[in-house]
Amino acid sequence: MDHEPGEADALGRARVLLVEDDAELVGMLATLLTEEGYAVDTAPDGQRALHLALTRSYDVLVIDRGLPAIEGLDLLGRLRSRAVATPVLVLSALANPADRVAGLDAGAEDYLGKPFDVDELLARLRALRRRHLEAADSLPVSGGRLDPRTRLVHRDGEPPVRLSERECALLEVLARNPKRMFSRRDLLTLAFPEAESENVVETYVHYLRRKLGRRVVATVHGRGYQLGAS
Ligand code: CA
Repeated sequence: MDHEPGEADALGRARVLLVEDDAELVGMLATLLTEEGYAVDTAPDGQRALHLALTRSYDVLVIDRGLPAIEGLDLLGRLRSRAVATPVLVLSALANPADRVAGLDAGAEDYLGKPFDVDELLARLRALRRRHLEAADSLPVSGGRLDPRTRLVHRDGEPPVRLSERECALLEVLARNPKRMFSRRDLLTLAFPEAESENVVETYVHYLRRKLGRRVVATVHGRGYQLGAS
């Protein structure tokens, strides 16, 4: 990969892959997106798009449905099955409710019918990118996600739980390395550099479990702690 998703290119531009076989529309959109500050790659068919999306890193993909070689939703399914999580906007003349449902079910984040309004397309791309960047900043924890900036844990169907600074510091260390076992000494160093006693680790494990349930932190007997399984 050239770079991490969301990192933008050397000039700070977001990278978009435009998958469209209508050359005139590609030309118009590439100009528009470049003017808007995107670094644009284009693919005229599904095969080329699959190759590019698997070998390079994009911030957003814009995919037409009726494409040569591999049609748009098939392309999308193949990307999702290979763990490409880049947000996708489907741009298609097939735009009745059933078409939109098919696109969203195939893994698209958004769906815009042709003909479309260019300002609406640009606004939707900005929104997609914003949501993706926010999600990229949050960390999976048992049953939900931790957003370290707001110190909130979000879980489906429940109000968010706010953590104290120390609770958040501890959970963030565990959640950034979900497979790693940490000794109390490791956690003291990484989460509470100003504290002296390893007891502080146990105290905050206790607080986290009280707020989020016992399973949020797993005890590795005689050794330390790791993030609980979700
Ligand atoms: Ca087409």
